[in-house]
Amino acid sequence: GGALDPWADQSESAAEAALRPKQLADFAGQSRVADQLGLVLDAARHRDTPPDHVLLSGPPGLGKTTLAMIIAEEMGAPIRISSGPAIQHAGDLAAILSGLVEGEVFFLDEIHRMSRPAEEMLYLAMEDFRVDIVVGKGPGATAIPLDIPRFTLVGATTRAGLLPGPLRDRFGFTAQLDYYEQPALERIVHRSAGLVGLQIDADAAAEIASRSRGTPRIANRLLRRVRDYAQVRGDGSVDLTVARAALTLYEVDELGLDRLDRSVLEALCGKFEGGPVGVTTLAMAVAEEAETIEEVAEPFLIRLGFLQRTPRGRVATAAGWAHIGMVPPDMPSN
Ligand code: ADP
Repeated sequence: GGALDPWADQSESAAEAALRPKQLADFAGQSRVADQLGLVLDAARHRDTPPDHVLLSGPPGLGKTTLAMIIAEEMGAPIRISSGPAIQHAGDLAAILSGLVEGEVFFLDEIHRMSRPAEEMLYLAMEDFRVDIVVGKGPGATAIPLDIPRFTLVGATTRAGLLPGPLRDRFGFTAQLDYYEQPALERIVHRSAGLVGLQIDADAAAEIASRSRGTPRIANRLLRRVRDYAQVRGDGSVDLTVARAALTLYEVDELGLDRLDRSVLEALCGKFEGGPVGVTTLAMAVAEEAETIEEVAEPFLIRLGFLQRTPRGRVATAAGWAHIGMVPPDMPSN
């Protein structure tokens, strides 16, 4: 690709940024959330005030960052982006908040991972648009109140349940993002292909969508791999044969399981007779970090009903055994 190719820079984040819809109208799927949010924004525009604070929850890759950027774009406001783990001291937060301009959108990703003192400062800032700067130490310490501009906090978390009640209660609008339905994913694939000038057949787009785990980020990622394949091994355009060949090459199966998912399932069944086995042991068997297993592979295997988390460890289900074409040892094999 040339200089105008949004995917010329092969870094994942640059590719993602290029595909982010900028307006609510281009945001596919999640129609209830989009309708509700649209009303919140219209009302704020009508009153000429920044919209209420917004809490977005849901698994990675479903569009939380995208929605935060859409809110800013639709309000004609700048956006400041940070994340819970990046704010360890209340002072870090005070510096950000006092640097905001009137109406700015403050996107705080992984908001559940903020430190306690920062969280308490955020309560006050959300409610009264004020922070208390503590000067000095010990008995002589004083809190100096500082007014900050009216801003809109957009918090993102993988699960709203991870947030303390008092923090959750301070959001005027809360939305739970769900995995996407096939038609929305197909629209996303078509739109992304269009943006990079890639010719793709409807059945090829459907194939990519159906292997993308209900997740727009994965749909876009698979599309990039298919596009690579089409450019190198084909004539640059994507039909069903090209899409299938590329996805097979990258070891993404019909249900969207990748190599890691399958090796977890194969180790669980092949080495531990279907479990129960502890996640640390399972992780060692596939030479991966336990965290990767827990956060990347397991949620999807659980969603498909292939694996269960039990108090005694991970267990493969009958459907899990069947998917990798193996038979549980205590079941008759004929
Ligand atoms: P999150 O913040 O929830 O992890 P992102 O907002 O970063 O997810 O979205 C990941 C990628 O998926 C981005 O490239 C984004 O453009 C795309 N995407 C997410 N949701 C949608 C949607 N509803 N319509 C079109 N593209 C989407």
